[in-house]
Amino acid sequence: MFNSLSDRLTATFKNLRGKGKLTEADIDGTAREIRRALLDADVAVPVVREFIARIKARALGAEVAQALNPGQQVVKIVNEELVGILGGQTRQLEFAKQPPTIIMLAGLQGAGKTTLAGKLALHLKNQGHTPVLVACDLQRPNAVKQLQVGGQRAGVPVFAPHPGVSSESEAATGDPVAVAEQGVAHAKDSLHDVVIIDTAGRLGVDEELMRQAANIKSAVNAHETLFVIDAMIGQDAVNTAQAFNEGVDFSGVVLTKLDGDARGGAALSVASVTGKPVMYASTGEGLKDFEVFHPDRMARRILDMGDILSLIEQAEASWDKDEAAKMAQKFADQEDFTLEDFRAQMQQIKKMGSMKKLLGMMPGAAGMRQQLEQFDDSQLDRVEAIINSMTPHERNAPKIINGSRRARIARGSGVHVSEVNQLLERFGQAAKMMKKMASGGGMPDMPGMPG
Ligand code: GDP
Repeated sequence: MFNSLSDRLTATFKNLRGKGKLTEADIDGTAREIRRALLDADVAVPVVREFIARIKARALGAEVAQALNPGQQVVKIVNEELVGILGGQTRQLEFAKQPPTIIMLAGLQGAGKTTLAGKLALHLKNQGHTPVLVACDLQRPNAVKQLQVGGQRAGVPVFAPHPGVSSESEAATGDPVAVAEQGVAHAKDSLHDVVIIDTAGRLGVDEELMRQAANIKSAVNAHETLFVIDAMIGQDAVNTAQAFNEGVDFSGVVLTKLDGDARGGAALSVASVTGKPVMYASTGEGLKDFEVFHPDRMARRILDMGDILSLIEQAEASWDKDEAAKMAQKFADQEDFTLEDFRAQMQQIKKMGSMKKLLGMMPGAAGMRQQLEQFDDSQLDRVEAIINSMTPHERNAPKIINGSRRARIARGSGVHVSEVNQLLERFGQAAKMMKKMASGGGMPDMPGMPG
C-alpha cells in the first residue's frame, strides 16, 4: 500500500536529516520532490498544487526557522498536511436514533461494492449489530448471487426477492427501488438494526445510473451513503468522485483494492476534492481484508514514521522527570554508565507498556513485522532479575563480576550463566557507546526521523 510513494517521500526527507538550518533552496528542492512523488502516485493535480503551497508556506515560516531540528519539523508539517488531505479526523458511522440505520453503497461497476457489503456486514456484526444485506444490484450478472455468497460467509442474512440477471445478454427487469423499500420493511419486521443496500454500477458515470442511485437513496431515506471507489483508477478518481458527489451526495468514501500495487492517488485526492471523509479501506478479496480508515495513521504509514506521536505521548506520561534529568546530568558529566542506570532506564521503558507494542510504533516498523512478532516481552523481566541478583557494588562496578560472581548471580536469578555473560557483554558495548557519544560524538539520530 503506497509503497513507492512512501519510499520516495522518505528518501526526500533523508536529505534534510541533521541539517541545522534550512535554506530557501533546501525547502524549494524538497517541495519539488514531494510534488513529483505525489504526481507520480496519481494524486490529482489541484490537490497536489494546494498541498505543496501549504507545505511551502509553513516550511518557510517561523515554526521551522526556530525548530531545534528543522528537518524533522518539515516532516511533521508534511504529516499534518497529509492528515488534512486524507480527511482530518477519523469519521465513524453515524447510527440512526431510531433503528434500522440504512447504509447504501454506490459506485461504478467493479469498484468492489458487493465484496465490501459482506465485509462491512461482518465488521458491524462483530461489533454487536444485527445487519441485513439487501440485493439491489439487479443489473450486473450474478451480483445477487455474489451478495448471497458474501452474506453466507459473513454469517449475515441477505434479503434478495429478485434474482437479478445471470448473463450480459439478459435484460434487467426488477425494480431496485422497490427491492430497497421491501428490504427496509423486512429489516424493521425482523428487528435488524442495520440495513446495507448493494446497488448497481455502470462501467462509466451515466445519468440513468445516478438517477437510480438517487431514487433508492431518497425512497429509503438512507442515513449513510458510501461511495465505493477503486484506488487503482488513477486520475479518473476525481471526476468519478465529483459526479457521484453531485449525483447522490454521499456521506463517506470507501477505498478498495488498496492491496494492489496501486499508486494510491485516489486515496489522497477524493477526500479533499469532495470534502467527504474516507471511512473504510478494502485491502483484498477476503472478508477480513478490511479496515477502518484513520487519516492520521495512514499518513504516518505513508511517511514510515510509525506511531511515533503516541510513543512520545506515552513516554511523556510515564517518564519520571527527575530520573531523566539525573541521567542527562550523568551523561553531560561523562560519568560511567552503570548497571544501576541500565536497570533504571529499563524500568522507565517498562512503565510505558509492552515493548513489542512500543517497537511496533517505531518508524520503519513496517519493514520488521516478522521480527516484532518474535519479540518476547518476558526477556526484559529476565534481564531485570539478573541485575537484581547483583550486589550494589557489582552494579556500580561491573568490571569486578568474575566467574564465581557470575555463577552466583545466575543461581540467584534462576537463569543460565550464559545469559549473565550475554547481558554483561551487551552492557559493556552500550556503556562504551555512551562514553563515546558523551565525549563529543554527539547524539545518534532521534527516532521520528524516517529513513
Ligand atoms: P461491484 O461491481 O462494485 O459490486 O464490484 P465487486 O464487489 O464485484 O468487485 C469487483 C472485483 O474486484 C471482484 O473480482 C472482487 O473480488 C475484486 N475486489 C473487490 N475488492 C477488492 C480489494 O480490496 N482488493 C482486491 N485485490 N480485489 C478486490
